[in-house]
Amino acid sequence: MLRETNGEWNGGNGRWCRACKQPIEQGQAATRLTFDQDPHGFDGLTGDYHTTCSRPYASIARALDALSRFPRG
Ligand SMILES: [Zn+2]
Repeated sequence: MLRETNGEWNGGNGRWCRACKQPIEQGQAATRLTFDQDPHGFDGLTGDYHTTCSRPYASIARALDALSRFPRG
């Protein structure tokens, strides 16, 4: 991935959308997704997303969650 730095982004919280690889600007709706199989984000799944970008991933997360659900007790 090519990471470019431009004057528009001064770091700050430095949140990047995992889906579209664009910075999440202040005022943009953002969602944090946490995947059980990638709790620390090493696989590039867990992290911050634009809310619009997160929708397909949130669906995947829910599906994986359903698949990984085991009976308890
Ligand atoms: Zn995005």
